[in-house]
Amino acid sequence: MATQRTLSIIKPDATRRNLTGAINKRFEEAGLAIVAQRRVRLTDAQARAFYAVHRERAFYDDLCAFMTSGPVVVQVLEGENAVEANRTIMGATNPANADAGTIRKDFGESVEANSVHGSDSPENAAIEIAFFFAETDIVG
Ligand code: ADP
Ligand code: MG
Repeated sequence: MATQRTLSIIKPDATRRNLTGAINKRFEEAGLAIVAQRRVRLTDAQARAFYAVHRERAFYDDLCAFMTSGPVVVQVLEGENAVEANRTIMGATNPANADAGTIRKDFGESVEANSVHGSDSPENAAIEIAFFFAETDIVG
C-alpha cells in the first residue's frame, strides 16, 4: 500500500475543550504525519459546500451550524494507507458505537459533535484537500 494523504478536521467540540494536541498526538503515534494544518472559523457557505453530499439528510442544517459554532483545525495527514488508517484511528461516526481507544470513543460528545472528520476514500481525500489547501501549503 502506497503513501497516501487524507483530509482531517478537528471539529468545534474538540477545539473548545483544547483537545487539538491530544488528537494530533494520536495521529503522530499511529505514524501519520501532519503535513499541513490551519486553524479556521468556517463560514456558513464553506460548511454547506464541504458537506454538500449530505444536503438531503435531516441533520444537514444542524451539522453546518455545529461546524461553524467555533474554530476548527483543518489538516492534511500523510502516511501508509492514510485514508483507511485515519478512519480506524477516528472510530465509528457515533461515539457510542466506536471501538475502545479511538478518538471518537475517547473524546466524542455525540453522533454530531464527534470531534473529528476524515475523508472516506482516496478520491474524496483529493477533493477535500483541494477544498482547503493549495499544493504549496502541503509540505511532506
Ligand atoms: P463520518 O464523519 O463518519 O464520515 P458521515 O459522513 O455519515 O460520517 O456524516 C458526516 C457528519 O455528520 C458526522 O461526522 C457527524 O458529525 C454528522 N452526522 C452523521 N450522522 C448524524 C446523525 N444521525 N445525526 C446528527 N449528525 C450526524
Ligand atoms: Mg463522511
